[in-house]
Amino acid sequence: MSDKQPTISSRARDISPSLTDVYLARRRIAQTVNRTPLVRSERLSRLAGAEVYLKLETVQPTGTFKVRGAANKLLSLTEAEKNRGVIAFSTGNHGRAVANVARDLGINAVVCLSERVPAFRVQALRDLGAEAVIYGRSQDEAYAKALEIRDSRNLTMVAPFDDPQVICGQGTLALEVFEDLPTTATVLIPLSGGGLFSGVALAAKAINPKVSAIGVSMEVAPAMVRSLEAGRPVEIEEVDSLADALLGGIGLDNRYTFELTKRHIDKAVLVSEDQIGRAMASAFRFERLCLEGSGAVGLAALESGLLGPSGSIPGPIVIVVSGGNVDPDLLVEQIKNYGP
Ligand SMILES: *Cc1c(COP(=O)(O)O)cnc(C)c1O
Repeated sequence: MSDKQPTISSRARDISPSLTDVYLARRRIAQTVNRTPLVRSERLSRLAGAEVYLKLETVQPTGTFKVRGAANKLLSLTEAEKNRGVIAFSTGNHGRAVANVARDLGINAVVCLSERVPAFRVQALRDLGAEAVIYGRSQDEAYAKALEIRDSRNLTMVAPFDDPQVICGQGTLALEVFEDLPTTATVLIPLSGGGLFSGVALAAKAINPKVSAIGVSMEVAPAMVRSLEAGRPVEIEEVDSLADALLGGIGLDNRYTFELTKRHIDKAVLVSEDQIGRAMASAFRFERLCLEGSGAVGLAALESGLLGPSGSIPGPIVIVVSGGNVDPDLLVEQIKNYGP
């Protein structure tokens, strides 16, 4: 087919989203997502030797920033596409965000999962009104099924990160940050597939090219960082992490987020499981925040001194606190492990 020819895909790569696209996204999604608070942390400011603020995406519907990208994608569809419905492949936050936004907009959503996904996650999707299709023993088999259903039912696939509309949706977070704190000098951004990083960094740097964008991943499986080192998307081994929402690859056929992350990243920091657990515990103890591991990686980077000695990072520093979907037992475990 013509859309598989290299000329087309390399042209697609050149059409990267602009700040204008992020503003358009913001207007599109304003009724569907929350404008989230930016709160100063006294403890972290003292630690960093600079003003530190937390951008709390934990208060979004379904507990993460992912509703921003999902809303922008779904609201950009044609009426015919909306009527036919959407499909997503996800075990976690992306699937939940798509299901939630689709329900709000009256669009049918299918979410494909493998048999290995726990029943409570399947139920959570059904409670949001999505059709959960459980198929296959592995992620790969479930993904193949999702593509088959997409084609047979003529649905639109909502990608978790590698889509310009999704990237621009996530970037709307940066517009809010610069309205609230125009002097922001450094942004710490959790980094997995790079949709969040690409959107936030491209908008932040379009507003002020001097802003420093730091990506934070977990040490055990940093797919984007390994890909940047290799100069191309690479696969990484499947492992467990407290930052489970950051697991998975960036896609060997990545079209947007690899290039955009490469262009905008000033520094990448990798945090250990120990540092993530400790950050989850201290976020609860001192900030009264319930964070999932992926939402805590920015705090972990700062608290563990990985960014250098106090006063070495230009402030104000904004930490994107990306999500709060943590299993209560797991959070309690971290609080007990990393006691005062
Ligand atoms: C998806 C997700 C991320 C990573 O976003 P990418 O766009 O894949 O880099 C970070 N934190 C949370 C809580 C997430 O759900």
